[in-house]
Amino acid sequence: MKKLESAAKPPEPAEVTSRQGAAALGPWDIEVKGLWKSFGGAPVLRGLDLRVRAGECLAIVGPNGSGKTTLIKTLATLLRPSAGTVRVGGFDVRAEASEVRRQIGVLCHQSFLYSDLTVGENLQFYARMYGVADPGQRVGEMLRLVGLEERVATLVRALSRGMLQRLALARALLHEPAVLFLDEPDTGLDQRWAGVLRDLVVRRAAQGCTTLLTTHNLERSLDLADQVAVLNGGRIVFAARRDELDVGSLREAYHRYTGAAA
Ligand code: ADP
Repeated sequence: MKKLESAAKPPEPAEVTSRQGAAALGPWDIEVKGLWKSFGGAPVLRGLDLRVRAGECLAIVGPNGSGKTTLIKTLATLLRPSAGTVRVGGFDVRAEASEVRRQIGVLCHQSFLYSDLTVGENLQFYARMYGVADPGQRVGEMLRLVGLEERVATLVRALSRGMLQRLALARALLHEPAVLFLDEPDTGLDQRWAGVLRDLVVRRAAQGCTTLLTTHNLERSLDLADQVAVLNGGRIVFAARRDELDVGSLREAYHRYTGAAA
């Protein structure tokens, strides 16, 4: 287990073989160096460094306001970095934002769905936008996976919170992205659907998808991730590989480095 002494020191790089075996020896899919993000001069991310090897999953845990959503939005090109470099899938989020967008799937607090279109129309729209082969078949498959086949003609504004989250997940996975960003993905989901989401993420990981997720749930982070990092005050204050941690040691580290109970 490694404590990170300063913001300039990155989490331990993923050196062990991941689920994808030899593919894991490929490049970093997510590479962040000296990332600062400020709003109106107030820094929220303070010189962040992190790397996620292709095919691996990094879980970020941290108290409210520590910068988790800001980090995900910056990686997903929804916010511009104030300083530092961010590369996703080998592309720079500032200079090559559209290349980055083509290969990522994002699930965050904004659903990116059109409330006056139906469930089916939304997925058809995104399938066409991403140039998905055989969009009709793919949309049907995604609707089945998230249990919304019967809602295909329902307007998005009439969906419950959980259904909206499931549809947002279908949208995020529709084009089989190489990199997935999931910000508190269990939000609004009951235990059953949280389990389905978990299985979908695990299945994508087995296919080589690189994932960065945030969660409040330490057990969940250990369940899914190859690495866990604790974010506090816009800095990575602790990082370790999954096999160096159990729930007790992660809880203790979380408390020690954030001062908060998990
Ligand atoms: P977390 O996801 O860990 O709860 P956030 O990234 O949402 O943290 O927020 C971190 C800090 O950044 C908070 O203090 C929040 O108020 C601030 N913040 C986030 N977005 C904005 C914004 N658009 N403008 C100003 N401050 C913001």
